[in-house]
Amino acid sequence: KVRVRFAPSPTGPLHIGGVRTALFNYLYAKKHKGDFILRIEDTDQARYVEGAEDYIVNSLNWCNIPYDEGPGKDKGFGPYRQSERKHLYREYADKLIASGNAYYAFDTSEELDHHRQDHEANGKTFIYNWHNRLKLNNSLSLSEKEVKQKLDSGAPYVIRFKVPENETLPLQDEIRGDMVIETKVLDDKVLFKSDGMPTYHLANIVDDHLMEISHVIRGEEWLPSLALHVLLYRAFGWKEPKFAHLPLILKPQGKGKLSKRDGDKLGFPVFPLQWKDPKSGEISAGYREDGYFPEAVVNMLALLGWNEGGGSEQEMYSLEQLVKAFSLEHVSKGGSKFDPEKTKWFQHHYMQEANDDELTEEFNRFLKEKGLEFDKAYILKVIQLLKERATFVSDFWELGSYFFTAPENYDEKAAKKAWKDDTSDIIEQVKNILKETDDFSAENIQDKVKSWITSEEIGFGKVMQPFRLSLVGAMQGPDVFEIASAIGKEETLKRLEKAQQ
Ligand code: GLU
Repeated sequence: KVRVRFAPSPTGPLHIGGVRTALFNYLYAKKHKGDFILRIEDTDQARYVEGAEDYIVNSLNWCNIPYDEGPGKDKGFGPYRQSERKHLYREYADKLIASGNAYYAFDTSEELDHHRQDHEANGKTFIYNWHNRLKLNNSLSLSEKEVKQKLDSGAPYVIRFKVPENETLPLQDEIRGDMVIETKVLDDKVLFKSDGMPTYHLANIVDDHLMEISHVIRGEEWLPSLALHVLLYRAFGWKEPKFAHLPLILKPQGKGKLSKRDGDKLGFPVFPLQWKDPKSGEISAGYREDGYFPEAVVNMLALLGWNEGGGSEQEMYSLEQLVKAFSLEHVSKGGSKFDPEKTKWFQHHYMQEANDDELTEEFNRFLKEKGLEFDKAYILKVIQLLKERATFVSDFWELGSYFFTAPENYDEKAAKKAWKDDTSDIIEQVKNILKETDDFSAENIQDKVKSWITSEEIGFGKVMQPFRLSLVGAMQGPDVFEIASAIGKEETLKRLEKAQQ
């Protein structure tokens, strides 16, 4: 059975790269009728950030990619927070010591610093590995008695993995294919820390095994850990899952990895939801608060490093379509550039697809916040008039505030062009025509005004431009008769009169 997990560390808000990792895991799970598990990797207490776990869960829910199993949804493999599984890991570290795959190391940080400096002085890098482990302060270089004494006296220690000295290790990745690594370049990573907590490596492998994870799908930054992880599985005698490392997401200019800071610098969100840093109070923008629909964000993320293949040029994918089309085979090896404009383009598309009644509800809330009350049928009508040009719900206001409040001033340039000496008289006549018009449908007003223009031979622009300016305050918006009809006879007359003054 396919069981995949998303295993973030709650060290801050989930950025867009993390959401993509979660999405690809979700898609893979759903495609194969498997389970999508959320595991919170919070063993590094120093980096724990209040609120980060909630943020992660809320982000997944907002994207409509909820987890099947995880905190609060125990299906028999819990708990799903590593801090609540603390008691488990020690036993596994001990197993590795017993089988000769791990060892106690008593080096103090001063000692390690000393070695580092020593090496640097000779132009070398200090690596804790086969090459020097026998010269260092650990249970491989001490007698059994000395080790026992140190342990009994309560001397601080860590447990390190004993990497095989000289082996060519084959590695398989579902995206990158087959690789090999020489174990002699690896270091003896710490598995268990002096504070009684496991490191990421140990906890991650133990949990993936106990949770029966079939596929590990994660970011490329974990590729350098793959060899150690494979060695750990082997040392435990466990079957390893399949691995897939997703390509990096690059900055829009294509140089380097997209970072959490890029959003502020370039003026677009790199987080799904807005985040307020609990310490500094600093706020980072989120797609949700910026008015994006989750469908647009998910669609954009799906194409960051994946395409359907087979010459398909499809770009629009609903979540269901993605589940059907997704495969690891068509995830690219190379990084993909993040493109904020493209996200807007998706958003515009999903705006066109959005349900008008739902948009009405949402925009009604927006208006209410401004203290404006209108009936829903009216709001719906405005939305239908403006939708084609709208990208965000807030655009209905940007593009059409005049449907809800009379313009307070007129665009200067447009006024200069549209308002001539005889304009006030012309508008007076338009008013007279409209006053006599009872059927205020767009068609009927248009009919009346246009036939009058034709019979008087005035020229359309001389009437239509000031007419629009009076109602809108600028030379923009949909058909001016639609606007007049929507705001109604009384309001139209009021605005024309105001413009004359
Ligand atoms: N806790 C790791 C992270 O924050 C998980 C990496 C993995 O998926 O193995 O990304």
